[in-house]
Amino acid sequence: MNRKEQFDVIVLGAGPGGYPAAIKAAQCGKKVALVEPKQLGGTCLNRGCIPSKALIANAEVLQMVREADKYGIITGEVRFDFGKMAQRRDETIALLRHSLEGLISANGITLFRGFGTFGSPREVKVRGEDSGALLQADAVIIATGSEPKNISTFPFDRRYIHDSTSLLEINELPRSLLIVGGGGNRLRICLAISRPRHRCHHCRAYAKHPADGKPLYFPNAEQLFYKQRNSHKNRGNSGKNR
Ligand SMILES: Cc1cc2nc3c(=O)[nH]c(=O)nc-3n(C[C@H](O)[C@H](O)[C@H](O)COP(=O)(O)OP(=O)(O)OC[C@H]3O[C@@H](n4cnc5c(N)ncnc54)[C@H](O)[C@@H]3O)c2cc1C
Repeated sequence: MNRKEQFDVIVLGAGPGGYPAAIKAAQCGKKVALVEPKQLGGTCLNRGCIPSKALIANAEVLQMVREADKYGIITGEVRFDFGKMAQRRDETIALLRHSLEGLISANGITLFRGFGTFGSPREVKVRGEDSGALLQADAVIIATGSEPKNISTFPFDRRYIHDSTSLLEINELPRSLLIVGGGGNRLRICLAISRPRHRCHHCRAYAKHPADGKPLYFPNAEQLFYKQRNSHKNRGNSGKNR
């Protein structure tokens, strides 16, 4: 039996597209429902920006310590524990997710756990933990994001062939890594995973030249990452490059 509830605004998806919209609507005095089947925070917090930034920060500290000698600091043998690095990544995500949960509830937003599907343009059915909820509203915001695309010739087995989600969840470093695709996200992962082992030279990044579309090949992915970052900055676009 469906449980009907009336709202002013329904937001589908609690990623960085959805949750700020839900909070803003609530702060404007609207009665808001937020529907999310997975963890709050979406790709960015759980499977994207935050885990990759956490791992990159680890790698940067390691790099500095390795180069301490240049600054006249004597450190002795430098070793690292990727398990602990991964633990710090998970703790960072958990802390931010906890803050976000607090923010959602402090703004009086009603959270429904499950996938939202349209019954009619103003009616959303929830399928999942909160199955049976039938939500009605004048406005529905769709912020359902995207998922990694499986390549049929190389299906993800999440052991040897990873998508960005499973690669950012590993607790042991691979000996070497081939990155297919030259976008900023792929390169962030490359930096995060490869730097501790000095395996950047095993990462291969490909990209198309923005002007003529010809393939570019960078044996060192870091080179491409910083090149891209600088070109964002030069275009006054650095804010996008969190
Ligand atoms: C490895 C990686 C690194 C990245 N690094 C950066 C970075 O440094 N800077 C940056 O700006 N961006 C970065 N991004 C991109 C950023 O994560 C995305 O742009 C952002 O998460 C998109 O937000 P969104 O809310 O549109 O979608 P998502 O974050 O994907 O959220 C969508 C949510 O909708 C939910 N959903 C799906 N279907 C339904 C449904 N039917 N009903 C209800 N809910 C549903 C999903 O479970 C999900 O939680 C990175 C991405 C990756 C993969």
